[in-house]
Amino acid sequence: MADETERKNKYQSNRWIEFREELIELDGGACVRCGRRRDDGAVLQVHHKEYLKGKAPWEYPFGFFETLCRRCHAEEHGKIRPESGWEYVGEDDLGGLYGNCERCATEIRYVFFVQHPKWEPMAVGTICCDDLTGTKLASDKRKYDDRLKRFLKSNRWSEENGSHSIKQKRIVIQVSPISGGYRLKMNNTDGKETYETWQAAKTRAFDFIESGDADRFFEKSARHPQRPR
Ligand SMILES: [Zn+2]
Ligand SMILES: [Zn+2]
Ligand SMILES: [Zn+2]
Repeated sequence: MADETERKNKYQSNRWIEFREELIELDGGACVRCGRRRDDGAVLQVHHKEYLKGKAPWEYPFGFFETLCRRCHAEEHGKIRPESGWEYVGEDDLGGLYGNCERCATEIRYVFFVQHPKWEPMAVGTICCDDLTGTKLASDKRKYDDRLKRFLKSNRWSEENGSHSIKQKRIVIQVSPISGGYRLKMNNTDGKETYETWQAAKTRAFDFIESGDADRFFEKSARHPQRPR
């Protein structure tokens, strides 16, 4: 099955790499302090001058960054990278061990983007993301993704009249093709959204149930049966 989120995420990861290269090009391929280039043996890095809370690194305007060589960059920050106070801003599934953690260099498949007011955004693995943010966010997300994958591939899905259905945590989910997409029905209540793929509709159902929204919704509609929405 084509994995939409994977495709979208892959785009994001490339976007980050391309973004950094574009910035370096915009600065003429040289450190803005000492003017050294890669040809001169300089390792060029992007330094972010300002910090925007909650923004993914590739969403920053170009003007927020400047190109520095590793030496000038170290002078700018002092040499010690902060080990706490990092903020999670995005993630990526590379579909295989195609990346390296920018903190510990371990080969990684799941990339987490983190940022800090006093350092550059980094792309790191699950353990380093947990360490730097002081949370279990990355490892919890990984567990959630694993459960979602198992749900999507579950052999409990049955097919009838072109629709797929499953019972998940006492809620009956039905996904049916309609013209121009797929429609979701849960406990016989029709959803209003049209989804582009089977997977998008099923993922929405999974999220709805996992977040507890489904329980709250069906409790409410049981109390007010005349007005289900
Ligand atoms: Zn320099
Ligand atoms: Zn910097
Ligand atoms: Zn790491």
